[in-house]
Amino acid sequence: MGGMAAPSSNFYAIWRAENEARLSLLEQGAPNPSERLLQGVWNHQRLLRDQLKTLDGKPVRVLHPGFWNREAGPDFQGAMVQIGDESPQSGDIEIDLTSSCWHAHNHDTNPAYRKVILHVVWSGNDPGASPMPAMALEQFLDSPLTEIKSWFNSDAAQGWPDALSGECCAPLRHLVPEQAGDLLHQAAEIRFHSKARAFEARARQCGWEQALWEGLFRALGYKQNVWPMQRLAELLPQICARGSSVLVLQSRLFGVGGLLPAELADASPNSYLRRLWDHWWRERDRFNNLLLPKELWRFSGLRPANQPQRRLALAAHWLATDKLLSRLETWFTTNSEEPIMHSLLKCLQPPSDEFWSAHWSLRSLRLSKPQPLLGESRLTDLAVNVILPWFWMRARAGQNDRLQRVAQDRFFDWPMAQDNALLRLARQRLFGSASVRWIKSAAAQQGLLQIVRDCCNHSNAICEQCPFPDLVRSWEAHMKTEATKN
Ligand code: SF4
Repeated sequence: MGGMAAPSSNFYAIWRAENEARLSLLEQGAPNPSERLLQGVWNHQRLLRDQLKTLDGKPVRVLHPGFWNREAGPDFQGAMVQIGDESPQSGDIEIDLTSSCWHAHNHDTNPAYRKVILHVVWSGNDPGASPMPAMALEQFLDSPLTEIKSWFNSDAAQGWPDALSGECCAPLRHLVPEQAGDLLHQAAEIRFHSKARAFEARARQCGWEQALWEGLFRALGYKQNVWPMQRLAELLPQICARGSSVLVLQSRLFGVGGLLPAELADASPNSYLRRLWDHWWRERDRFNNLLLPKELWRFSGLRPANQPQRRLALAAHWLATDKLLSRLETWFTTNSEEPIMHSLLKCLQPPSDEFWSAHWSLRSLRLSKPQPLLGESRLTDLAVNVILPWFWMRARAGQNDRLQRVAQDRFFDWPMAQDNALLRLARQRLFGSASVRWIKSAAAQQGLLQIVRDCCNHSNAICEQCPFPDLVRSWEAHMKTEATKN
């Protein structure tokens, strides 16, 4: 095989250069750069940083650009900027093409944008158009726009800027993966026990079984709908008589939750929605003082599988069997040959649901392929956040050391959960990369989240007064001392 191809004979490089030139011509014809490009510029601070000024002429010092938010809400969160003679402020940054986008995109009425401290736009000259200080990037790029566009299509622009890594990143890099893994393991243990203690506190008030139901419902609420789910779980003793049919339980959970339509003009007489609705309206008066307002639920940004009705449909199956707890106990106390995820999935996955196996939501079209009501990612959440801490605490209350060990071992053996934006940002800040190959278990992810909670959430984007870097250094010194003893 020959060596590296000379650039002139590299077809791919030639194609890429031509394509970039074509794209750049197209973009040059466009009146404005894309918002995504502006976000990349802000993320990497491709700016004349010592010349920045607001539209009304005050100097702007960007002490930290914040962290790029790929979900709903402001584009950068946790930034730190100093405007004019004011003290530095922490808050969010929103990036738009023009100041008028603030109102046009309804940021003014969206509570998620309340913490925006600087509106960064491409061009503009009216300082009054945004309700907070605004700055136009057009005049402050560190290179001509054509060069910036070409850079934006390169790998360099897509990576994590080293300058955004946390203060703990350097000391963590000194550790070998086993040492860093041990630290995450210890943080995960703290998290596991604190979840378990929360179950104990709740069980003192309402009993172990009710505490478990509340944990399961909260986990089904995903992060957006924890509170309405918690409230519905608290109401279970009043609204869900054991032994009721799945349809009755679904109609009550949806009805009390405020999740059924008020009018039903277009449903055919035998449709699932019609049957739910008819049942609910016969019973509604009985539950009148328990109804939740629909506004309590959040639907935006939810994946179809996380829609609250679909999650409640699953819970109705669990409630209808009246055997969920004994099935979980059998799962927990039996040593199965099967991987633990499979055996727990069998225990929690209901038989197919006439309606919900074939629809994502009450109004969606029939799916071409049936979908299970419970998938592996939600299963992992249920296991590591609810079921295993609950069993651990109940075993501890019963002074059963063996079962405590079983719960803890299963927690530490549990396979990795689905990735999310919080975990990704934590890996980037702590380890300087979105991909850390040795983080392979749900417990390591939990450890990471615990460090974010204990440290990042109490500090700011520039890691002021964060004790974690010192902890990592003393951990390294401790490990060295231990190694010399052996
Ligand atoms: S706040 Fe602390 S734990 Fe978080 S990235 Fe900074 S130094 Fe690390």
